[in-house]
Amino acid sequence: MIASPRVIIVDRPDAAIVPIGTPTHSQEEFPMPDTIFHKIMRREIPADIVFEDDHVIAFRDIAPQAPVHVLFVPKRDFATLNDVPASEPEIIGRLAVAAAAWAKAQGFDEDGYRVVMNCNGDGGQTVFQIHLHLLAGAPLGRFGTTA
Ligand code: AMP
Repeated sequence: MIASPRVIIVDRPDAAIVPIGTPTHSQEEFPMPDTIFHKIMRREIPADIVFEDDHVIAFRDIAPQAPVHVLFVPKRDFATLNDVPASEPEIIGRLAVAAAAWAKAQGFDEDGYRVVMNCNGDGGQTVFQIHLHLLAGAPLGRFGTTA
């Protein structure tokens, strides 16, 4: 059993100690809506699938932001990174390990690549089934706000 790390939220008047990974909603109470990624997993819409195992599916992004842009998606339903329980870090670990293995297999591991997970509005998340972006194929520069 993995102990829950704890974080103190200091910038809210109702500051509380909240275990990291505490789901923001229960999937039973609020079942996750189907996303475009679920349709890809069920082969209801086409995608350029580059990797799949029992836990993860990966396919090329339809609007690539780099010469190589692949999305690694778990076969478990979590809308955002906030919703992954602290007891199940393997959900994220499998995405990262699959991305690194695919990068090695494609031969761009030494030149390098970037993996990113966007979360909610400020993070720029648009599809609410968690996924890891893998970007590669050119120097990617720094990242952050553009303001
Ligand atoms: P995010 O903005 O982090 O939620 O990432 C969602 C990504 O999904 C975006 O980069 C989109 O370009 C990509 N996307 C949306 N629809 C599709 C699709 N049908 N096939 C592949 N990628 C998609």
